[in-house]
Amino acid sequence: MPIESLYDLNFKALQARLEVDGVRPVHAVQLWKILYHELEMDPAARSDLSPPLERWLRRVLEGSLTLARPSVSDRLDSSDGLTKKLLLRLYDGQEIETVVMGYPGRFTACISSQAGCAMGCVFCATGQMGFVRHLSHGEIVTQVIEAQRLLRAEGHKLRNLVLMGMGEPLHNYEAVMSALASVCRLPGIGIAPSRISVSTVGVVPGIIRFTEERLPYSLAISLHAATDAERSALLPVNQRWPLRELMEACRYYSLQLQRKVFFGWTLIAGKNDSPEHVRVLVELLRGLDAHVNLIRLNHTAGFAGRTSEEASANAFHKAVQDAGIPCTIRQFRGIDVAAGCGQLRATRQKSSEAGSARLKTLSAS
Ligand code: SAH
Ligand code: SF4
Repeated sequence: MPIESLYDLNFKALQARLEVDGVRPVHAVQLWKILYHELEMDPAARSDLSPPLERWLRRVLEGSLTLARPSVSDRLDSSDGLTKKLLLRLYDGQEIETVVMGYPGRFTACISSQAGCAMGCVFCATGQMGFVRHLSHGEIVTQVIEAQRLLRAEGHKLRNLVLMGMGEPLHNYEAVMSALASVCRLPGIGIAPSRISVSTVGVVPGIIRFTEERLPYSLAISLHAATDAERSALLPVNQRWPLRELMEACRYYSLQLQRKVFFGWTLIAGKNDSPEHVRVLVELLRGLDAHVNLIRLNHTAGFAGRTSEEASANAFHKAVQDAGIPCTIRQFRGIDVAAGCGQLRATRQKSSEAGSARLKTLSAS
């Protein structure tokens, strides 16, 4: 393990750390504001630090803490300039993705919660990669800092946050929830909790814990199929927590917190996009305060399925709405920047593998 980063301390941990070192915890407020509101990368160089904070910072940065943060190793902008994808390199060489999407008047960051993912969904580039490790508080929070820095440089401000990048957020519950509390904290990054959406493949104990802790974020469930046989074929996690348990957890969440549940449905031609699929879905959601978000499949190297035809996608959309369930089709965002989760990293790895294969061929000849 490397030396701990200052970004790995949430506000309470920062206060506790100051106190242990004999500094009044009230100084945490100034440091927090400098790091998370002003987005200062070199706080020790500031001339406006209170003297005890300045002395403490100098001392800890010489030994027990660093200012280590992921570095931006690649950036791709979509041709319309509205989607920007960052590839961030972590201290151990792992790479994760953060995407910034612009809609008229509002900006959304899509961040990662893990390097790789253990859930193995067959159509997902991150699932195809397997699990590498959980991200820390600092590795999650600094993705939001990078997004905010990028937007600030263009005169904009981050408004929404979605955990729909690489990884399963409820499999890394502690670090994710601690990081989300940090990005909401004021004065700091200050994103409104109601503008944060946590997307899960259906880790049932995590949904129950989220409900019981009455967390203020929206919850999105990646459903994709409405029978156990079809869902298990796409999402192996369904064998562990089948639909009956998942829907029971969703109803519990919705009733306890009086909230709508957002269901994600990636449309795959011939697999889950027929009128019969709509019928079974509508039956499954009966009586639940639900909203369905449709997205057409992004092609990935490890999955042979095709994206739905536009006509089938539109018919599916209309049929769900006609059944009285609110439903939207998410636009393909920045398809030219490998917009799907894990796809930029996968594309880059493929091209570097192709590069090294070429080198091998050259040296063999
Ligand atoms: N692990 C969480 C959050 C990250 S994935 C989850 O699964 O919900 C975010 C969303 O992208 C999920 O709904 C996922 O099913 C979807 N997704 C993954 N790969 C995709 C692809 N190739 N095309 C379209 N959607 C995809
Ligand atoms: Fe993991 Fe979500 Fe991808 Fe499934 S879709 S493998 S849960 S990141």
